[in-house]
Amino acid sequence: MKSTLLIRYGEIHLKGQNRPYFERMLMRAIVASAKKFGGQVGKGQGRYYLRELSEQDMPQAIDAMAKIFGIHSVSPAQEMEKDLDIVFAAAAQAAEKKMKALGKTEATFKVDSKRSDKRFPLNSMQLSAEAGGYILEHVPGLKVDVRKPDFVVHIEIRETALVYTDTVMGSGGMPVGTSGKGMLLLSGGIDSPVAGYMMAKRGVALEAVHYHSFPYTSERARQKVIDLARKVSEYTGPIRIHMVHFTDIQMAIYEKCPEEQLTIIMRVFMMRIAEMVAKQAECGALITGESLAQVASQTLSSLAVTNSVVDMPVFRPLIGMDKTEIIDISKKIDTFETSILPYEDCCTVFVPKHPVTHPRLEKILKSVELLDADALIADALAKTEVITVSAEDEV
Ligand code: ATP
Ligand code: MG
Repeated sequence: MKSTLLIRYGEIHLKGQNRPYFERMLMRAIVASAKKFGGQVGKGQGRYYLRELSEQDMPQAIDAMAKIFGIHSVSPAQEMEKDLDIVFAAAAQAAEKKMKALGKTEATFKVDSKRSDKRFPLNSMQLSAEAGGYILEHVPGLKVDVRKPDFVVHIEIRETALVYTDTVMGSGGMPVGTSGKGMLLLSGGIDSPVAGYMMAKRGVALEAVHYHSFPYTSERARQKVIDLARKVSEYTGPIRIHMVHFTDIQMAIYEKCPEEQLTIIMRVFMMRIAEMVAKQAECGALITGESLAQVASQTLSSLAVTNSVVDMPVFRPLIGMDKTEIIDISKKIDTFETSILPYEDCCTVFVPKHPVTHPRLEKILKSVELLDADALIADALAKTEVITVSAEDEV
């Protein structure tokens, strides 16, 4: 028996004039994702349908749709013509199936009906009452409890009739791409993949820039970043990563600049390069995983310094979050286990013993002047490798 996945969207409802645009973007994301299991995408009044799904495909379809930003929730449903006998039979079948799934021989339920087709002969109240009666008669072991039932049988009469018992929450947010594109500074750590996820949730499409210090950082460290981007791409669609060769810049800083300024100067270079790459890739903002006061380079004065060396807006969606809160999200999006793999990062290769915690911009810029920044950056950019990762890649 083929089923239908009912897809509800969230905040897009708030959009006025621009609503068709948001709906189109969401539709596009649903169609792209549905390719994996071949359901048929359809649009209804303020919702979408994924039809013709087999029993085996349904869990995968639910999982995939729940990851698309802009989707509020989904319900696996039986869809049928608006015929009372057929609807009642489907309601009884759904109740029986749900009871089995709960592993119960006795359970309580209620019927909740919505009728948006006013020509349908029964109103919502009547429909619930009659369907409830039918279910009681045909499914043994059930009792009605309208206050705290074990489950609810939902019946909706719209363009067609839909019967379902379950609703799975989606990721919420806005369709990816409806808020432009941002350049994520992606390390191998816990924070930056979460930062990318948070911005994508509000509709920002992502590209990423990663700084590596090959040969001080390994192939495994590089693979780790690719794996993290792939995890994030399950929510965003394919992500282009700009792999920037950072070793020579770090060496130059190490040789020429005061040791305690190493990290902050490194971050100045990271921001400047990211902005250049972002402009070329037509991104409107930089995104980092910084959180206030987490480390020396994330104090208010350090952030002021790294902020002031670029013109582009810098978004730091984790700025007010505790590490434990960030970890919770990284577990939810399944990046945590990869992030904690112990491979060295470019920042861990050269670490000052006593980093400045309250850098002054003029002093830092003076130190940067000790270097031939333009040449160093040009060289790093020339050695940049671009790869695209996508959720469909073989792992
Ligand atoms: P994360 O867990 O994201 O690595 P962190 O707490 O370790 O963050 P830092 O290492 O100081 O903090 O990095 C702060 C931010 O700078 C990161 O969230 C990321 O956006 C960016 N960043 C750090 N290292 C790199 C890198 N090698 N390549 C690209 N961006 C980086
Ligand atoms: Mg880090």
